[in-house]
Amino acid sequence: MALPEPLALVVEDEPELQRFLRATLLANGYRCTLTASGEQALADAAAKNPDIVLLDLGLPDIDGLEVTRRLREWSRTPIVVISARGQEADKVAALDGGADDYLTKPFGASELLARMRVALRHAARAGDDPGAVVETGDLKIDMPVRRVSVEGREIRLTPIEYKLLSTLARSIGKVITHRQLLREVWGPPYMGQTHYLRVYMAQLRHKLEANPARPRYLLTEPGVGYRLREGLAKGTAAEEAPEQAVSEG
Ligand code: CA
Repeated sequence: MALPEPLALVVEDEPELQRFLRATLLANGYRCTLTASGEQALADAAAKNPDIVLLDLGLPDIDGLEVTRRLREWSRTPIVVISARGQEADKVAALDGGADDYLTKPFGASELLARMRVALRHAARAGDDPGAVVETGDLKIDMPVRRVSVEGREIRLTPIEYKLLSTLARSIGKVITHRQLLREVWGPPYMGQTHYLRVYMAQLRHKLEANPARPRYLLTEPGVGYRLREGLAKGTAAEEAPEQAVSEG
């Protein structure tokens, strides 16, 4: 017997974007329920038990940030936030409040579907072990023995570098905010020390990336955090595009 198609709860008040989201989801194996109101979204989440929530931050009643906080009081359903330019602080607050990822308007169908796949995969794995060995491209992180290698060559990391990398690896494909990384690696008193991250991320890139100025694995999400890129093929460093240019201060 086939499983039912996953149900997406879409919370969005712009008619044009509503139409785009609904059409994209229905054409790609999702069921879809739509609302323009934050309060209605919370009621629908409880009544319809969606598999994933696409949540606009700017809503006419309560904002998406509040919806995220209230939903996370009782639900672990993955939330992908939809934000406009200028809502960077709200976007980061939503991620810190438990949202799983974000899309910045305008975005395309393939980007939307890729983000949703990652969020659903992580939700399916929640509670399970993240996987003892994480691999992407030529990078391999063997958690039980704390061994990191690139193209089979062992890379020696400091304890902090390893903790930073393994934190990203446990959530491979997902953005992790600055605050989440600082809390996880250094502890709650250090959550404002974003310069620590810049220093250690530069060191990690220097050790892991063929070209640290155009990282292939450790991606910067400007103003938000970092992401370990998922699903890279082996041995294709030269052909792959686009790599990311580092433009952080
Ligand atoms: Ca809106």
